[in-house]
Amino acid sequence: MSPPTSPTPHTAPNTPHPAPLVTRFAPSPTGHLHVGGARTALFCWAFAQAQGGRFMIRIEDTDQARSSDESARGILEDLAWLGILWNDGPTLTTPLGAIGAQSRPVGPYFQAQRLGLYNQYLEALVRAGRAYPAFESAQEIDVLRQAAVAAKKTFRYPRPADVVPGVFPAQRWSRAQAGEPHVVRFVAPSAEVVVNDQILGPVRFAPGEMDDFVVRKTDGFPTYHFAVVVDDELMGVTHVLRAQEHLINTPRHVALQQAMTRLDTGARFATPVYGHMPLIFNMDGTKMSKRDKAKAARKAAKDALTKNPALNAGTLAAATGLAETAVSAFLNAESDDVNTAEAVARHFKVGLPEIEVYDFRASGYLPEAITNFLALLGWSPGMKDAAGKDVEKFDMAFLAKHFSIDRIGKKPAQFDRTKLLSFNADAIKALPDAVFAQRLVTWAAEFNPAFAAQLAALPEAARTRLLAVIKPRCRTLGDAPGVCAFAMVSDQALAFDPTAMDKAVRTDAGRAVLRAFATALPGLNPTEPAAVDAWVKAHAEAGGMKMGEVAQPVRIALTGGTVSPPLGDVVAVLGTASSLARVERCLAQA
Ligand code: GLU
Repeated sequence: MSPPTSPTPHTAPNTPHPAPLVTRFAPSPTGHLHVGGARTALFCWAFAQAQGGRFMIRIEDTDQARSSDESARGILEDLAWLGILWNDGPTLTTPLGAIGAQSRPVGPYFQAQRLGLYNQYLEALVRAGRAYPAFESAQEIDVLRQAAVAAKKTFRYPRPADVVPGVFPAQRWSRAQAGEPHVVRFVAPSAEVVVNDQILGPVRFAPGEMDDFVVRKTDGFPTYHFAVVVDDELMGVTHVLRAQEHLINTPRHVALQQAMTRLDTGARFATPVYGHMPLIFNMDGTKMSKRDKAKAARKAAKDALTKNPALNAGTLAAATGLAETAVSAFLNAESDDVNTAEAVARHFKVGLPEIEVYDFRASGYLPEAITNFLALLGWSPGMKDAAGKDVEKFDMAFLAKHFSIDRIGKKPAQFDRTKLLSFNADAIKALPDAVFAQRLVTWAAEFNPAFAAQLAALPEAARTRLLAVIKPRCRTLGDAPGVCAFAMVSDQALAFDPTAMDKAVRTDAGRAVLRAFATALPGLNPTEPAAVDAWVKAHAEAGGMKMGEVAQPVRIALTGGTVSPPLGDVVAVLGTASSLARVERCLAQA
């Protein structure tokens, strides 16, 4: 590798890329897949599909302390569940086949397995005089940083006087080779860096803004910047679509690309096409983040503390089994620990907002509703339907066909949970009954085993009927246990809501309705739901009552409460004997 002729090369326009088009999603496996990450993956996938290219997954696990194989696997499973399947990347074996099995041979796809490559490229960069070992300890750097803060200046690492751009730092290299603790820093260009962003337009970074940032850490692992640049080049990535919070990193990546040369072909590194996607905000204008769970749990705790002065960090710690210090730190917003947030939320019986794909799975969202909703976070197809309305409902095949970068917006996208819920309810309604039943059983097996057991215990015909009846009443699969509860409890164990009983059953009219219904029931065909509804109508008309005055006592008797599927369906699910037993038991308590 010959040293560059100019020590601080100027920004070149983006080098055009040869085919094939390759996009990538590069998660750090430090937890579950955030919906924001899923949006990034979806856009990368859709763009590759629309362009006939390849979509790649790379696991960025160089932060050894925070990364885990378990979370890498979880992320891959969430992506597969969403239907965002990769051409290149780690292999994941699923019932649908081995995803990633046909990858291009540019792996390994886990960065921690690529250290040898990074070290080769790093040495080449040092030998070209574009990087150098630096020996300051973390404490020494901290002193410099604090001095900058005190002087109200941005800290910039001062390049040592002996480092000459373009000249191999032989002495420093020998010290490093001899084992002296060090980091390796990049000789940053002093010229302006321009990122020609496909979404934001040209973004300019002023000369001298970049300091000599670290490319290899003391532990021998590359920094994110270095690994990403080496991998994007060696893995043939042509298009980088990522969240706008990474824009700040991009000039460093471009500067590295301009300083680096491939060891196999001698070609200069190419600069991929970049597009930085809009941020995702909550409806209240705050940035959507993992901390939203802590915020919601803290609010519930604080509300409770205000209402009940006997409650404090100590009593809450005792009730939740958490350490008092952890609870205090959490209440004072010094910690946003998710486990604490979940324990506090459980204690106060409040639900936490779903943030990760896994949360949405657990709540019973359907993947097709999530991907449809995520696709609209910063993108729109720009089409009208027959009624002249914006096309908003579409599937993955539509997205794969119509996705384009030029319809990605610049403005932050809003995560409208009400809209997502309505997309989900519609997606559930659109499922054929048999598919709904199968999805619900799969969901319950994973997230609500007690409910799964109840479903399994029902005779098949009863289950089929019950699930067909509840389908239109479930906005999420997670609604199903509640909507099904009336059918899962034995006639003897059904509890009648006392308030509803007082209002609608413990009256002369209420008791009379139930008696009449008990008499009529044996003559009504339970497999014909319309017969029950017709009886309610006729009985109301005959007695000069409103439909509700007849339906409500019957509903309470059959289901224990005032909200249920239509009565005909309820009787169809329960059968005549059980319906009658419930009405009689209710009457006995009236
Ligand atoms: N590993 C980075 C992250 O999870 C990926 C950044 C990138 O796409 O370059 O945020």
